[in-house]
Amino acid sequence: LLKQFSVPKCLSSSADGTQRFYSSGVQRVTMIPGDGIGPEISAAVKKIFSSAGAPIDWEDVDVTPVKGADGKFRLPQAVFDSMAKTGVGLKGPLATPIGKGHQSLNLALRKAFSLYANVRPCKSIEGYKTPYDDVDIVTIRENTEGEYSGIEHTIVDGVVQSIKLITKEASMRVAEYAFEYARNNDRSTVTAVHKANIMRMSDGLFLSCCREVAEKNRDIKFREMYLDTVCLNMVQDPSQFDVLVMPNLYGDILSDLCAGLIGGLGVTPSGNIGSEGAIFESVHGTAPDIAGEDKANPTALLLSAVMMLRHMKLNDHGRRIEQSCLEVIREGNHLTADLGGSTKCSQFTDEICRRV
Ligand code: NAD
Repeated sequence: LLKQFSVPKCLSSSADGTQRFYSSGVQRVTMIPGDGIGPEISAAVKKIFSSAGAPIDWEDVDVTPVKGADGKFRLPQAVFDSMAKTGVGLKGPLATPIGKGHQSLNLALRKAFSLYANVRPCKSIEGYKTPYDDVDIVTIRENTEGEYSGIEHTIVDGVVQSIKLITKEASMRVAEYAFEYARNNDRSTVTAVHKANIMRMSDGLFLSCCREVAEKNRDIKFREMYLDTVCLNMVQDPSQFDVLVMPNLYGDILSDLCAGLIGGLGVTPSGNIGSEGAIFESVHGTAPDIAGEDKANPTALLLSAVMMLRHMKLNDHGRRIEQSCLEVIREGNHLTADLGGSTKCSQFTDEICRRV
């Protein structure tokens, strides 16, 4: 899958496999500032965390690939060393080089750290006008296989085959995570989204894994729905949905649909949860058109950092930062250009710092 990036197996050498604390209670987090607007919005998050007194010690790492003696590109060792120490990362957007032979760095990170579940909460932001004001959905996407297995080949000239790979192991893992997420976040229902009527074996296996996990988690309501039915109902009345769990490709598409319902990728956070660590990231790209102009909206990265705090059981700090950010947006006097205002990234950041 990742021809160009060799991925060393180094995380297993992590000292104790648990969250790393300083004796002061401060926890270390790997920070990947990213490209384009990445450094500006990362600096904004750090400033807000500092104002909120969040007990986080940031360790900045650069993920620009380095070419080894064998000619292969690798993620720099510093990324693995840092993640092995911290187990938690916050990541700004990364530019994907255009041209043949370049693999996505985002994919490389996902693979390197076995980030098997992509989690995207999509909640309406009060004061930010969208067609619906009652969206509160969490999509949980299997992040490692499905149509994205990367197994593709030409059979004969003009005929190409891509393999959709579904395994019991990955399906059980993501289904178990979905129920655990629902329980830990006071959610009532998990819906498995599938096309098992057509892809009887692959989606059939995914669905049977979800059913098996649902049997063991009777305190959470379980529903199953066809992907097309979910899409239809989602645009008519998104309030009927709670936590949704699905295979990779469906999650890729449906999570963007949900983001569109709350105002787009610029305000949508996400988390990639893995067996060897977790990386939280804004969903938008590097915004090269406004990079370096102090115009970026740091909300998506900040809300991703809030997810990260909750993952680290720092719920009080998370709640305070989230409330301050949403308050600034709700009041509407200090909005960045993407939200219809003219406030600079730095001013928006300062407004949050004043409230937090
Ligand atoms: P983009 O998300 O960078 O930009 C699309 C539009 O949204 C632009 O007009 C931009 O100014 C605006 N925008 C995005 N984020 C914003 C923010 N926080 N505040 C204000 N405005 C914002 O998408 P693109 O232009 O298609 O991609 C640019 C680069 O980003 C590409 O190299 C792409 O591969 C990469 N990318 C990376 C990620 C990631 O790292 N997760 C995701 C998507 C795209």
